[in-house]
Amino acid sequence: MRETGRFAPSPTGPLHAGSLVAALASWLDVRARGPQARWLVRIEDADTERCLPGMGERILQQLADCALLPDEPPVWQTQRTAHYEAALGRLKDRGLAYPCGCSRKDIDEALARLGQRHERHGERVYPGTCRDGLHGKPARAWRFATEKFEASQPPGELCFTDRRLGRQRQDVSREVGDFVLRRADGPWAYQLAVVVDDAEQGVTDVVRGEDLTDNTARQILLQRALGFPTPTYLHTPLVRAADGDKLSKQNGAAAIDTGTPAAALAALDAAARVLGLRPAAAAAAADCTGALASWVPEWRALYNSRP
Ligand code: GLU
Repeated sequence: MRETGRFAPSPTGPLHAGSLVAALASWLDVRARGPQARWLVRIEDADTERCLPGMGERILQQLADCALLPDEPPVWQTQRTAHYEAALGRLKDRGLAYPCGCSRKDIDEALARLGQRHERHGERVYPGTCRDGLHGKPARAWRFATEKFEASQPPGELCFTDRRLGRQRQDVSREVGDFVLRRADGPWAYQLAVVVDDAEQGVTDVVRGEDLTDNTARQILLQRALGFPTPTYLHTPLVRAADGDKLSKQNGAAAIDTGTPAAALAALDAAARVLGLRPAAAAAAADCTGALASWVPEWRALYNSRP
């Protein structure tokens, strides 16, 4: 299979210093593999409520300003809903997806009855209320039958090796529960969309921010349930805001300035530093293209890509 990497931004805001790190890292990882490898860009606008109009185009322009050009036309998730529909259909047919009528309040009350509090970053571990039916409530979401699927798998926690962080493990049933695949009012959940897209685009190597590490076990379970191959994973270091929190669009991370070639090079340089790469000046690189080329062998040495 042709080695394929991707950058998959959500158009909820412009590229900021943190998301540029993921873009640069995924680009370098592909280029370090040689000319046959492909770098794709996918605009993750499946969760339409959080997306801002025109932001996908703005991100593509920021990437282009940094000379980060995809090898194929970008894909937009909103144009791919038939694929998600088909995947959900396959899970339903096998009894691995079920409708859930619980509101947040219902889930909180059920958890309180069970003596459980919110764990995992304040997220609720779904207590399984609707596994045996909707109890007369209208469906609000489709959930993955995590426990049922895991029962068909070898026992034990789900393990994978991250190329930077090493061995990772998660007991998905206990730590996450039956997660949402689609909300009944339409939007597709990130977990389902990303798994379907990575598989159908032939993505072999996922490189993305460390904040997403925690989603990987869920995605591997879904890949197995849908009969898709599992790519390799590398989660990149996060850029911290002044208060130590992860820099994100939600906490108002500033858009990177790519308005001039010098500004774009400075933004790339800052991203490269986070990845442990030398500044462009050290390689006498005068523009983004030159800087990118200088980092390819460094990336290969640092992150041990297959040449
Ligand atoms: N769309 C996700 C984000 O912007 C990234 C998804 C991924 O790389 O798997 O956080």
